[in-house]
Amino acid sequence: MEYDKNNVFYKIINKQIKAEIIAENKNAIAIKDISPRKKVHLLVIPKGEYKNIFHFNKSASKEEIFDLWNLVNEVCLKNQLVENGFRIIINQGENGGQEVPHLHVHILGGEKVGKMCD
Ligand code: AMP
Repeated sequence: MEYDKNNVFYKIINKQIKAEIIAENKNAIAIKDISPRKKVHLLVIPKGEYKNIFHFNKSASKEEIFDLWNLVNEVCLKNQLVENGFRIIINQGENGGQEVPHLHVHILGGEKVGKMCD
């Protein structure tokens, strides 16, 4: 699957753009969304060059997959989201509303997030 390096998350991972990384492991980083839709809005992003969730599921190593989801748990715990709940969203492609073509897992919480779809 073709990956376009000209995207903001590639640049953050490769230190071409500054960002506050709130948690990190070998294969993933977590940052705060620049335009939060809820009180807590975090993004967990694999360091590898994966365009979307389909690409990641098809091509990532077991370690990369483990590290991504392990970091999701870590930041959910750190931000006290586990007890009251949270929502994970992964957008893919045009119909999914994906704006940045590098896989990222949205984590929304800190308050009721509302109905699932418009
Ligand atoms: P999506 O529509 O799923 O591709 O979501 C892209 C998300 O990236 C949006 O929620 C943006 O607010 C967020 N975003 C874009 N640029 C940055 C940035 N520099 N730092 C943090 N989040 C960003």
